[in-house]
Amino acid sequence: MKLSPLKPQLTQVHKLWLDLAPQPRGHWEGSFLHTSSATNESYFLRAAIGMAGEAFEGEGRLSLNAKDGRLVEVDLSGAVEGREVSFTVWIRTKKQPEPFTCTATLDPRTNLMRGTWRHPCYNGDDCHCEGGGGIFELRRIRD
Ligand SMILES: [Zn+2]
Repeated sequence: MKLSPLKPQLTQVHKLWLDLAPQPRGHWEGSFLHTSSATNESYFLRAAIGMAGEAFEGEGRLSLNAKDGRLVEVDLSGAVEGREVSFTVWIRTKKQPEPFTCTATLDPRTNLMRGTWRHPCYNGDDCHCEGGGGIFELRRIRD
């Protein structure tokens, strides 16, 4: 499954599926552990995610810095293939427009997803590193 560098637009069919989905949007939360940084910091995400057919979309909030408690609003979009999900987390700010990309495996009851995530370098054009990333886990929580 390949992620497009452009924010995908849900097709009319996908929108319809989401509207008619037997499972309503669920609330998910969990941590993104930054294994590529020396500090091993982690981000926390809480999001409403809808999955129907191959469509995956959502919106939520991400804490980027546990110390200052800063939250950014994010949009999620991606695809589901069997138990494999891949999605992009789009940060709604101008400072960090670059998205995270995530791939994960859903548990059979669709209550847990575990996988890996990557982000591009945020240090500007002079830095030529490949960015970073780590592992993440999201759990469905009761509404
Ligand atoms: Zn860099």
